[in-house]
Amino acid sequence: MKIGRCVWEGRVLLGVVDEAQERVSFVQDSFSHSANPLMDWIISGGPGAVSTAGSAKLENVQFLSPFSALRRNVFAVGKNYRAHASEFDKSGFNATAGTSSIPDYPQIFTKATTALSGPYDAISFDPGLTQSVDYEGEIAVVIGKVCRRVSPAAAMDSVFGYVLLNDVTARDLQKRHSQWFLGKSLDSFCPLGPWIATCDEVQADNCMLSTWVNGEQRQHACLKDLIFDIPTLVSTLSQAFTLQPGDLIATGTPVGVGIGFTPPRFLQSGDDVRISATGLGEMRNRVVTVGVSE
Ligand code: MG
Repeated sequence: MKIGRCVWEGRVLLGVVDEAQERVSFVQDSFSHSANPLMDWIISGGPGAVSTAGSAKLENVQFLSPFSALRRNVFAVGKNYRAHASEFDKSGFNATAGTSSIPDYPQIFTKATTALSGPYDAISFDPGLTQSVDYEGEIAVVIGKVCRRVSPAAAMDSVFGYVLLNDVTARDLQKRHSQWFLGKSLDSFCPLGPWIATCDEVQADNCMLSTWVNGEQRQHACLKDLIFDIPTLVSTLSQAFTLQPGDLIATGTPVGVGIGFTPPRFLQSGDDVRISATGLGEMRNRVVTVGVSE
């Protein structure tokens, strides 16, 4: 199932997506903008059988972030594709770069819940705070069940599905403050959506992730090329703390981010960032700058 939170004829609904038919079928109830029906659904054990009433063309439906709010920070993984690990260390923006660009263990950091935004919302920043904003197209795991100390072999039982996430990063803040949290957590720096695909809809072996900036392809990689695969990531996190339904794990970005270029190509006001992956649809976020007083 591919399911998202969307607006249709002025109402906030849950929509079940049929990509092949380019249709969205709507689950019967409507919700307020602040309600978090997909999160509530996942926490209560998943949607199970869904009854729908009415449908619309996919292109006519406006998708919101699948979640209106997150319960916890996004857990994220740094340097999880080989070529990206190398480009990041060579860029000079990794204050924690070691002797080898390939990590021995997954590098885990978090993004603040307040960074969350929708699949078509603006990425906004104050140029007085940062002038090196970068995109990171990623596939995030959505946890479906409470899990603690699961093995990699059992980890997928706890996964609800997958969703696109842009791990937008202020590189200067990431470097200056050593810990990555600040540079990863600016408001609007976590576009998510347009829908969550359950595990049966995505196969790592043929799930291709791509990012374009102003129509120019910058990233293109396969989910199977993660250094630490999804079962390993879920297991690793669960050894340290209890994962909860609705938790997100951003699995890392492939080669092709802005700091990989010489000179770096940071996002500018007016840029159009598009991210897609097989079965996960497409996000499209425009970059805007704002003043301190706004
Ligand atoms: Mg990232």
